[in-house]
Amino acid sequence: MGRRIFSDEHEMLRKSIRAFVEKEVTPHVREWEDAGRIPRSLWRRLGELGFLGLEFPTEHGGGGGDFLSSVVLGEEMARCRSGGVAFSVLVHTDMSSPWLTRFGTEAQKRRYLPRIIAGELVCALAITEPGTGSDMAALSTRAERRGAHYVLTGGKLFITNGVYGDLYFVAARTAPGTPGRRHDGISMFLVERGLPGFSVSRKLDKMGMRASDTAELAFEECAVPAENLLGVEGQGFQQLAAGLQRERLMAAVLALSGATQALEDTLAYLRERTAFGEPLAARQALRHRVADLATDLEAARALVDHAASLYAGGEECVTEVSMAKLFATEVANKVAYEAVQLHGGYGYMREFPVEGFFRDVRLWTIASGTSEIMREIIAKRVLG
Ligand SMILES: Cc1cc2nc3c(=O)[nH]c(=O)nc-3n(C[C@H](O)[C@H](O)[C@H](O)COP(=O)(O)OP(=O)(O)OC[C@H]3O[C@@H](n4cnc5c(N)ncnc54)[C@H](O)[C@@H]3O)c2cc1C
Repeated sequence: MGRRIFSDEHEMLRKSIRAFVEKEVTPHVREWEDAGRIPRSLWRRLGELGFLGLEFPTEHGGGGGDFLSSVVLGEEMARCRSGGVAFSVLVHTDMSSPWLTRFGTEAQKRRYLPRIIAGELVCALAITEPGTGSDMAALSTRAERRGAHYVLTGGKLFITNGVYGDLYFVAARTAPGTPGRRHDGISMFLVERGLPGFSVSRKLDKMGMRASDTAELAFEECAVPAENLLGVEGQGFQQLAAGLQRERLMAAVLALSGATQALEDTLAYLRERTAFGEPLAARQALRHRVADLATDLEAARALVDHAASLYAGGEECVTEVSMAKLFATEVANKVAYEAVQLHGGYGYMREFPVEGFFRDVRLWTIASGTSEIMREIIAKRVLG
């Protein structure tokens, strides 16, 4: 079915990203999955092609595009058959660096944006801690102002691009929250790799998304220059909340595009594989399951497209984004389960992409706000 939210320009962009992904990404994903990282050369190539700066202002070397250009990037990267590759790239382009254009000073933008866009600086977002994830206000990493620095002490967990990254968007407490306003007192900092007192304590081993590296980080009296405060001191949570809708939409986009690819792979398999004298695609029991999956995906796509166009238009869309994130990531997991089942024993084998998708997509009902948290947000808005 046609997608009405995209212009001809978006479709041209899609064509060029798709060609790049097919030629320069997909053939290597197995190697990167095994290595547990994507190579620096891929970042530089993405930069060279302009794909890391689609939405950034042209004066800093970006493409000056809209949010839907980033949706196109997410959809096309997710077709590479490695959730981890797409996740790493979109953490850089969509889940961390946009905070710089939104809240950064001119000096911060001049210092970092050109290198972010060129793929020379890889970005990570560090909010989650060993003791807290969903409850962001409970974070305990401290940042204490001492002269020209903020001194950071604490730890972060599950940080994507954290092992091999260069620039970290870190949330830390500059003041205690107050009763009824426990989200106040959090601030955001730009922390560069190599700063004394900042280290990667562990590379984490995980179920899926294996081509994206995931870190535990430690801050031990790490002195961050005061000019690296991002936005307003104490308003970090409010700043993050403003960006969360983008992150959640992108999670929905990645899950949905991966699921669409997994269903396409499954249809091809059902047409090809024969059992009891005919292609599996002829079996009514399987045809009906495929029909249900295709319908669920179409419904998820309608929700995601609607939320994405509201977001792109600058409209208030927290309910729509939460619904899109919840529904699309749950549907994508259903598709993954059925895709493996419909492949039979082959679906359990590493050489079949649906096996990897099954592991990768499990993340999406957890990261960027769990399904339970999405339901909390939606319930608050519909019930009060
Ligand atoms: C591979 C991976 C990559 C990640 N990348 C990043 C990253 O780059 N940066 C970053 O900052 N974080 C990252 N995360 C962290 C991720 O965002 C958190 O794991 C997620 O927000 C959930 O937090 P938690 O793990 O602490 O779970 P918890 O918050 O402890 O939740 C545990 C369970 O309780 C449920 N729950 C919690 N609160 C409620 C409630 N009020 N009502 C009902 N149920 C509730 C949850 O839904 C969940 O099922 C990543 C995680 C993973 C696994």
